[in-house]
Amino acid sequence: MRSRLALAAALRTVITSIVMKLIDFFAQRLPEASSGTGNRRSNANLAFDSARRAMVERQIRARDVRSPRVLEAMASVPRHLFVSPEYAAEAYSDSPLPIGFGQTISQPYMVAAMADALSLEGHEKVLEIGAGSGYQAAVLSLLAREVIAVESQPALAVAARELLLRLGYQNIRIESGDGTEGWTLDSPNAAPYDAILVTAGAPSIPPPLVAQLSEGGRLVIPVGPSAQQDLVRLVKHDGRTTRESLFACRFVPLVGRYGWPAGAQMQGPNRG
Ligand code: SAH
Repeated sequence: MRSRLALAAALRTVITSIVMKLIDFFAQRLPEASSGTGNRRSNANLAFDSARRAMVERQIRARDVRSPRVLEAMASVPRHLFVSPEYAAEAYSDSPLPIGFGQTISQPYMVAAMADALSLEGHEKVLEIGAGSGYQAAVLSLLAREVIAVESQPALAVAARELLLRLGYQNIRIESGDGTEGWTLDSPNAAPYDAILVTAGAPSIPPPLVAQLSEGGRLVIPVGPSAQQDLVRLVKHDGRTTRESLFACRFVPLVGRYGWPAGAQMQGPNRG
């Protein structure tokens, strides 16, 4: 059953990739009757728009994510710009993709499900640990008031910051550092956070993240051994937390003071 599902997922990825490449191929060869390259670019954009709509319908709405705000955010962020150009044609496929430095942009469904688990209404200050490409931060920025996203790889942090600026996302700050300590460097503007999302797998829940949650705040984090983690949601009330297990997942390692030691590697394909 598992291998049939895996085969179906792999087939879907290959077919999506071929269709996107064909669309791109024809888009680039359409008659340049009117506006030349502008026309070509808008044809490619139309192809990406329709791939994105299909992604939302088939991979997200068809599963268990029903929040209209989350679906809308997923339909809006141009995921193909957050992966390196050689992966643009696969950007809307049902899988994580490499973003360099051995890291990945999470599978679209995972991005949506984690955003959904944070129950954002629009007024929140959100902390993301593991900014990577900046894609998840872009999605969160459409669901909350402000996003601070911490990334430990300085080169990824710089690239994400530049891209988000170029795309006009104004309520996101990308910071470089060890997010297992949370983010408190520029208080009073930083902690506490109404929601904290960790997008790398942790051996256990880093205590600073719990400390930096506001009253009623939610922490969503993959926790467990490297082979497979549990997506855990913690809610803080009156200084105490309740813990709930959402579903199994597999992420790249959260490396840092309250995470895995440097050099930690996870085997096999990551889902996140
Ligand atoms: N959310 C990202 C993908 C996450 S991949 C996106 O939308 O593209 C996980 C990321 O966590 C990687 O970029 C990795 O470098 C980063 N990471 C790992 N340990 C970290 C730590 N202690 N602090 C901050 N980022 C960390």
